[in-house]
Amino acid sequence: MLKENQIKKSLLIEKLFDILEEKGRIEEKDIENLSKELKIVKNEIKAIISFYKEFSEIKNKNAVYVCFGISCLEKGSRKLYEELQKQGFDVRRSYCFKKCAQAPVVKFKDRFILNQKMEYIINIKNPDVKNLERNISFNSNVNGKIKIRRCVAGNCLHKDVDLSGFDVENCGCLGFCGFAPVGIIDNKVFQLSPTFLNKIKQDPTIINRENFLNFDRKGKIIMKYNDFVDPFNIDSYIKIGGFEGIKKAVELGKERIIEIAKEAGIRGRGGAAFPLHIKLQGVMQQKENPKFVVANLEEGEVASYCNVILAESNPFIIIEGIIIAAYVVGATKGYIFVNYKAKEAIERLKNVIKQAKDMGFFNFVSNDFDIEIRRSPSAYIAGEETAMLEVIEGKKAMPRNRPPFPFQQGLFGKPTLINNVETLAALACAVSYGPEVFKEYGKGQSIGTKMISLTGNVNNPCVNEVPYGIKVRKIIEEIGFGFREPNKGLLIGGPSGGILTNSSLDLDYTYEDIQREGAMLGSGAIFAIPNSMSIPELVRDLMQFFADESCGQCIPCRVGTVKLTEKLNDFLNGKNLDRKIDEIIRTVMNASLCGLGQAAPIPLITAMKNFPREFSKNFQEVS
Ligand code: SF4
Repeated sequence: MLKENQIKKSLLIEKLFDILEEKGRIEEKDIENLSKELKIVKNEIKAIISFYKEFSEIKNKNAVYVCFGISCLEKGSRKLYEELQKQGFDVRRSYCFKKCAQAPVVKFKDRFILNQKMEYIINIKNPDVKNLERNISFNSNVNGKIKIRRCVAGNCLHKDVDLSGFDVENCGCLGFCGFAPVGIIDNKVFQLSPTFLNKIKQDPTIINRENFLNFDRKGKIIMKYNDFVDPFNIDSYIKIGGFEGIKKAVELGKERIIEIAKEAGIRGRGGAAFPLHIKLQGVMQQKENPKFVVANLEEGEVASYCNVILAESNPFIIIEGIIIAAYVVGATKGYIFVNYKAKEAIERLKNVIKQAKDMGFFNFVSNDFDIEIRRSPSAYIAGEETAMLEVIEGKKAMPRNRPPFPFQQGLFGKPTLINNVETLAALACAVSYGPEVFKEYGKGQSIGTKMISLTGNVNNPCVNEVPYGIKVRKIIEEIGFGFREPNKGLLIGGPSGGILTNSSLDLDYTYEDIQREGAMLGSGAIFAIPNSMSIPELVRDLMQFFADESCGQCIPCRVGTVKLTEKLNDFLNGKNLDRKIDEIIRTVMNASLCGLGQAAPIPLITAMKNFPREFSKNFQEVS
């Protein structure tokens, strides 16, 4: 059994978020109250507050947050930041708001300004500038002749559009984030621009003559029914067979579900690619109780946003996956660990948890099974699985030593299944549709499909789902609609992935093929690098990200990432890049405790190997 005190203490971070949301800042009085309520000494609370930037930074309602994720940097966010500084704004750096398809992203007074030019953004304080993109309301209405299912996820969330006079329903992400706002009319996807909407209002027959986009179900498993599922309406999910997987799981039994996960070849989709069936088996076999399932939706890495879009598009499939996993391992509780910036995803998941519980779906696990959402203070390291457990327990996001592994001693020291939300969604699909559906796609050990976050130099930066084994070139051409301008390479696998030349376009998108080139699939991020972007600058920005996000627990990572950033900055300022850099790289990779430090130098290593000329102008041997 868990001690009551353990549960109480674990609520600290949630309570800090509540105070922040209500009052905008955390004061001494709040710390005193929390100390009494949660029975935590004040200094411990203060240490937690100072560890997380969200809690410790001095608030200013007029502060302007500029994203320094690579998609935004590629669209000039650094210049924008400097210009706003010159203009006297309280401007602050931020990492990834999960709106990469509409870069550069700026946040001002809780609103997002997406994909706008400098002249527009520096006018944000002007009360005449009313056109700030805002969250739209999503109530369906049935009052027109033309039926539109409009996307209410991702970038479409922030693109207000007047749909009065239409018969409107909602749907999830269709993979055209770069064209937001989009919607479906007569099974065709259209960009819902005011001009287009006015035209079809006046003459509905022109719909047949207008250019349209195509939502292709082929090659999709998790996103396959995004055009039908209304994230606000559980019935829309039930209509396409949703939650049938839970009933089927109970009929088939736990052992068979583990076999199904194996046959479907489901591997961890968050980056580690560890086989799901082994994890399920491992937790199921533990004798100790209680057990937990933790769904990871932290997604703190820059230019990766497919988990957030999944939750905004189809929160039901995540909940179904958690319920099935909990049934298999015998968990008494599920947690969803969500990046606090993903506010819309949090609301939708909360809504589904309530509905699924009311409809009795939790009872398939046990009568007292429950799922709780825990917000993550948006630190990249908080997504590392053991650091995540620490945060849920109300502590600093610092990775634990292993062994013991989480399947043995995880949350509160109890057996815990940890998986990314996409992995759990894949489990729900494998049980519902059968493993054969996964076997239709893939190559070698990469079976099924993968959700991707495509950003950077493409005409349609977006989230989508692709079959493993697809040519990278096909992803760029058919999903990204080609390069926006001449392109020189790809960063595959997120910030700790590999920087490859355009020859990577001929690779098959599988774990094995990408790894052979020194990169990795990671969580499915692909960033296209235009010729106009400096590779050393890109590497410096990624290294700066790691230096900022290191938890500081081990010296090689804490100091090494800062030193590498300094070396790259010196290089960009005209100094020589010396061979000592190799020594630092080796130390960071070999002596860091967790994946953040161990993988941080990969972009630098691959960039120096694949783009030697960009590093050679000042390169010299230093003995
Ligand atoms: S490698 Fe870096 S992020 Fe990981 S535990 Fe060490 S200091 Fe923290």
